[in-house]
Amino acid sequence: MYYRSTRNRNIEISAAQAIARGLSGDGGLFVPERFPRVSLDAVSAMEKASYVQRAAYIMSLFLTDFSHDEVKECVSGAYTQKKFPGKSPAPLSRLGSSVYFLELWHGPTCAFKDMALQILPRFLTKSLKKISSGREALILTATSGDTGKAALEGFRDVPGTHIMVFYPCDGVSEMQKRQMCTQEGGNLAVCAVKGNFDDTQTGVKHIFNAPEAVKAVYENGMMFSSANSINWGRLLPQIVYYFSAYCDIAASGGVKAGEPVNIAVPTGNFGDILAAYYAKKMGLPVKKLICASNSNNVLTDFLKTGIYDRNRQFYETISPSMDILVSSNLERLLFDLTDGDDRKVSSWMRGLSRTGSYDASKYLDRVKELFWGAYCDDAETKQEIRRVYEKYHYLCDTHTAVASAVYGKYAAETGDSATPAIVVSTANPYKFPSDVLDAVTGGRHAAVSGFEAVRVLSEMTGTPVPEPIAELEDKPVRFGTVCAKEEMGAEVLKFASGTFE
Ligand SMILES: *Cc1c(COP(=O)(O)O)cnc(C)c1O
Repeated sequence: MYYRSTRNRNIEISAAQAIARGLSGDGGLFVPERFPRVSLDAVSAMEKASYVQRAAYIMSLFLTDFSHDEVKECVSGAYTQKKFPGKSPAPLSRLGSSVYFLELWHGPTCAFKDMALQILPRFLTKSLKKISSGREALILTATSGDTGKAALEGFRDVPGTHIMVFYPCDGVSEMQKRQMCTQEGGNLAVCAVKGNFDDTQTGVKHIFNAPEAVKAVYENGMMFSSANSINWGRLLPQIVYYFSAYCDIAASGGVKAGEPVNIAVPTGNFGDILAAYYAKKMGLPVKKLICASNSNNVLTDFLKTGIYDRNRQFYETISPSMDILVSSNLERLLFDLTDGDDRKVSSWMRGLSRTGSYDASKYLDRVKELFWGAYCDDAETKQEIRRVYEKYHYLCDTHTAVASAVYGKYAAETGDSATPAIVVSTANPYKFPSDVLDAVTGGRHAAVSGFEAVRVLSEMTGTPVPEPIAELEDKPVRFGTVCAKEEMGAEVLKFASGTFE
């Protein structure tokens, strides 16, 4: 199977090259040349398989330059019982008769990014060997919170890799800062930057392209790489859990073979919902893909009008991982909807960077057949956390609540509440303890924050604090370096030569 760029369909590279390179030189994203069909018989056969077996089967279909054993080795190293304690890495909780919360937060950082970032480093090191680079990977990441921690955990002590994470000094939550600065592992470093997230991201992009940095890193036997959410190696693992969820629902009698489900996804960069779309394209019986946004509702408008327009106010919400105005992975959907029209996609993307908008309304009918979109603001999000808790005694986080509330709007507006629905749950509620506490108590604990909020929430609801959060309070801080944005390159060189403190 070959991969092409969304901005140049004549490119033909292997999966290993797509994963090692991350982004195409023309600015496009890599997409597989075709999507293999998974028959209903194959879906039924997977019902009895473990998550690891399901994942190996689905991913092998796309990684044709990897042997089946290599894929299995990556999968079974990533989704271990130790890293994902419990009955499955992606279990379902059934709420009511036909709604299932797909819990993707049982990994080491309690957020769904673990599902991809636990396996990406394994794919990446194998890919680098396959393209015989003979080099180790130096991953640079700019983070506004969750990705940095998940990437650190994923790459931690993976042979042949090194990772350095930069975060904006005042741009991440106290809990997120703690998660990163206490990170263990011998091949990694964390550094704060005086500036905001944009400064940090621009700094990282600049280092990737600075000839002197590239040369110095090369001389240390490494090459730069990225763990960015647009890497095919991050998207592919996300297709698996939709198949897996369907198999689990079918196995429990919630759907008969071939009957459709709806899927509601809390969306930011459009990666998670795109993976659901790909699963549908491969034959998974899915009726509607429900795209849930917070007040940054650029996607809601796009799904209604076919016009993407990022020229609008940016809101900082209580679901920060969805505070995004440019959803990069939408480019892959556009490539698909236009039957691979790379010139059209390129011109839209040029429009997006020049004027902040583009018009794809010609494809609106197809978009509407596939997707249904809506958004909810912070007040509705909190109301939903409270509603779900009071009705089902189930605690969900702010991002999950956005998906749940939007699913409610879908069911009310369309009347389609009989079709079983998968609501994608992307973070453990204890990652956002003060907002969740505030929500379930209807504002009575608004001033309580940090570990105090964790304690109160756990006592009040009788729900357990996940170990990765509980242990943070007593973990020693390892990384305290703060640099100016102009000094980021120098810090990277120190790290590459082993002198970063
Ligand atoms: C990243 C993230 C999302 C958004 O996922 P996308 O793939 O970017 O659309 C939603 N919820 C949480 C908790 C996240 O970390």
